[in-house]
Amino acid sequence: MCKVDDLIERYDLTPSRDGYETLDEYLLARWKGVDGLESEGYQALTEWFNKQVLRGVYDEQGRDIAAYRIDAEYEILTGDRDLRHDELAADLAADSIDTDELEDEFVSWSTMRRHLNGCLDGEKEPARSTSDWELESVEVARSKTREKARAALHSLSSKGRLPGAASADVDIQVKLTCPECPTRIPIEDAVERGYICKDHGRTVPRESDGDEAPSGVQQAILPPGLAQIGVSLTDDLVYTLDFVAAMGGAI
Ligand SMILES: [Zn+2]
Ligand SMILES: [Zn+2]
Repeated sequence: MCKVDDLIERYDLTPSRDGYETLDEYLLARWKGVDGLESEGYQALTEWFNKQVLRGVYDEQGRDIAAYRIDAEYEILTGDRDLRHDELAADLAADSIDTDELEDEFVSWSTMRRHLNGCLDGEKEPARSTSDWELESVEVARSKTREKARAALHSLSSKGRLPGAASADVDIQVKLTCPECPTRIPIEDAVERGYICKDHGRTVPRESDGDEAPSGVQQAILPPGLAQIGVSLTDDLVYTLDFVAAMGGAI
């Protein structure tokens, strides 16, 4: 049981589409992109899930749960602590909702990742389209690294230095870090949303034009990063790989 499981139970969260018995089934389907659903990344699913939680909290306190309101207020709650945030906090307090407690309810993408891979034991086929060779090569590097880590864990386990390590789940992530701030995001999610950092992905100056069209700037930042990865993977991995050996997948 993780935080996602607790929240599903506490707010009695159900699928927003017919044909699914449980929210977990629906989450897996959206993640994998089956049943005619478009495959979604952890970030997108996390956001969707958190909005369901927000709806649950509002519903409990008798606050309006119109979709546009949930969307707008979620954005404010997860954004900067500015005037809008303070105003919303005051408004929520009027409905007996404590903003800090509410924000603590939200899950992070890494919790969602563990829930899908660990709790639900889900596995997602890596993208196979030919235009996704970049992600495929990352996937190849990940599975090689996973194999090596498993071999090392097996040895550590048999030597008694890390008992039980042989049966641990090994999760290899390639994360990209913003050069300007601590934002870190899995490469799949960065590719899916089209930028690495919300704040700094959009401020990289472009040479030719002075306009501030955010979409152009986002496009400008991601491809160089991907090109670097394509190159670096062929010599050796220079990117930070997070090794998470989850004992029995129970985290
Ligand atoms: Zn879980
Ligand atoms: Zn940043």
